[in-house]
Amino acid sequence: MDILQECRGAKRIGIGGHVRPDGDCVGACLGLYQYLCKSLPEASVQVFLEKPAEIFREIKGYDEIDSECGQQEAFDVFFCLDCAQDRLGGAQGYFAAAGKTLNIDHHVSNPGCGGINYIRPEASSTSELVYDLIDKEALDKDLAMALYIGIIHDTGVFQYSNTSPQTMEKAAKLISFGFDFPRLIEETFYQKTYLQSQIMGRALIQSIRFMDGRCIVSGIDRKTMDFYGVGPSDLEGIVNQLRNIKGIHCAIFMYQTDVLEYKISMRSDELVDVAKVAEFFGGGGHKRAAGCTMRGTFHDCVNNLSLHIERQLDGRL
Ligand code: AMP
Ligand code: MN
Ligand code: MN
Repeated sequence: MDILQECRGAKRIGIGGHVRPDGDCVGACLGLYQYLCKSLPEASVQVFLEKPAEIFREIKGYDEIDSECGQQEAFDVFFCLDCAQDRLGGAQGYFAAAGKTLNIDHHVSNPGCGGINYIRPEASSTSELVYDLIDKEALDKDLAMALYIGIIHDTGVFQYSNTSPQTMEKAAKLISFGFDFPRLIEETFYQKTYLQSQIMGRALIQSIRFMDGRCIVSGIDRKTMDFYGVGPSDLEGIVNQLRNIKGIHCAIFMYQTDVLEYKISMRSDELVDVAKVAEFFGGGGHKRAAGCTMRGTFHDCVNNLSLHIERQLDGRL
């Protein structure tokens, strides 16, 4: 995929990422935004995303993000990043109406939804794919920082198995631009507010182990989120903390999104492919990190998920 070639002559270019954008989604969208603004000064470029967490405010272009999706005019080119078009939220209409659509993603569950697709499940992150696709001459400190933040978020700071030698080589090139990477890792990845820490503590205390202690689940309902005054982005990291527990092969964290509706996050090791489980329930993701939305009570969700996980753990799939 030659990004600039595909955008040749385009006057209006749009970029969208998935609902509840994570660090990779924000880094990839704003990285591509910076690149296109720099390389195609005559084009109008816009990014559409649900409002990302405040920790990403430092990334250049954050204040230009449109979270309303109020305008009507169609785009000549529309990029769908880090997801398929069904998770674009308010930007789905732009994708459907665009003259040309491009999809850049690293989710195994995404078959490619654009007219032109660049889907690489072996890549650590969509930010790494944006790095691969851009002309390296255009890299500068702001663009490098955007892509670096995306990579550290989807690799858990180079810990997860999606980290390849190539990922590290690209990250090495990115930090050569001289941004304060230890502070960015601390402030965007590890640091939690007091309330975020409290609700994590609550989720850990209330967690339940099952399948002979090989799996763990915890959930937070709407009432508890309201009590602490926290939103979905404040719950990130809880599922990883559950997965860190010794002996656990699969961790599930869920929070209530509506009456009898939960957003499910799963993390696993090599014994369980959670992308398969999530796909069965209409979601997706990666082998060791995936998610979906399910209807029912907390216990309905756990029972349905555990059937699929148990089959894998017992080698029956
Ligand atoms: P999460 O547990 O929300 O952090 O998501 C883990 C991984 O699964 C990420 O790569 C997400 O993009 C992906 N994912 C989460 N929810 C869904 C969904 N409903 N459909 C497809 N992919 C998802
Ligand atoms: Mn993502
Ligand atoms: Mn990603």
